[in-house]
Amino acid sequence: MAKCSVCGRPAVYVNPVNGKAYCRVHFIEYFEKKVKKTIRKYEMLGEREHIIVAVSGGKDSMALLHFLRKLSRKIPGWRITAVLVDEGISGYREKTIRNLAKYAEENGVEYRVASFKEYIGATLDEIVEKGRSRGLPYLPCSYCGVFRRYVLNKAARELGGTVIATAHNMDDVVQTFIMNLASNSVDKIYRLTPVTGNGEGGFIRRVKPFYMVLEKESALYALLNNLVEPEYVQCPYAHYNIRFTIRRMINELEDKYPGVKYGLVNSLLSLTRDRQPSSTRGYICEICGEPSSHRVCRACLYRFETGLMSD
Ligand code: SF4
Ligand code: ZN
Repeated sequence: MAKCSVCGRPAVYVNPVNGKAYCRVHFIEYFEKKVKKTIRKYEMLGEREHIIVAVSGGKDSMALLHFLRKLSRKIPGWRITAVLVDEGISGYREKTIRNLAKYAEENGVEYRVASFKEYIGATLDEIVEKGRSRGLPYLPCSYCGVFRRYVLNKAARELGGTVIATAHNMDDVVQTFIMNLASNSVDKIYRLTPVTGNGEGGFIRRVKPFYMVLEKESALYALLNNLVEPEYVQCPYAHYNIRFTIRRMINELEDKYPGVKYGLVNSLLSLTRDRQPSSTRGYICEICGEPSSHRVCRACLYRFETGLMSD
């Protein structure tokens, strides 16, 4: 069994790239240092912030909430509120909501559940059904992604948040990078930076503190802090998403050639260093009044096409 490179105790993690091993205590130290360094390097958070932590109740976002709550004890100007967007996917979301509620109550964390039903007028299940019956070409994840962003931004603004922190880790980022390349959505690549938006025009600044963390590292951090839900449930729409195939392929590559994920994320950072997305989000949606990159926002367009909104 590998021994911790720092203290010689049995290791719980070996860094596949440089071979360094860590015991429980030193892994947590390594992980937290790495995240703090990312926050500093990309100037993600100031001394006075109301941080809205986007949580799903799953392991990654619970790890982020736990980490930020721990760090906030040293930063008196921080306030933290967890926001969970409930898409309304039957049999899937209920368990993670319970997981968040339990953690929040035990640890005195403020939280809010913002649902599609409340903000959009229908659950994702209902929206998918309406789209199907009208023969619309969209996949469930397309509605889900657009509406989730919309609901999160609106709920965060209502709560007076100054910044939204999401738990996207390096695996998520490189998967999206490859997905965008595959679909020729080059402009979206420029939005995959560690920080997006500057808080102007109603879009709250978004930061990704786990940007340089591997998925297995954030999973282990969650496990070592007892944050993992007892039973993992996958979204029933997941198999429609190209992400899951890309994820498997990148993981296979990483197993054979450790360091591939770091290579991809560093390429992404080089590509995006001096460039901004070409479409500036300068509009206020003519229908709902929310910030948008077009005159009518994508959420309103979907609502219109699915019949949730009539003209
Ligand atoms: Fe939404 Fe798709 Fe993720 Fe399910 S798999 S939660 S539908 S984005
Ligand atoms: Zn709109």
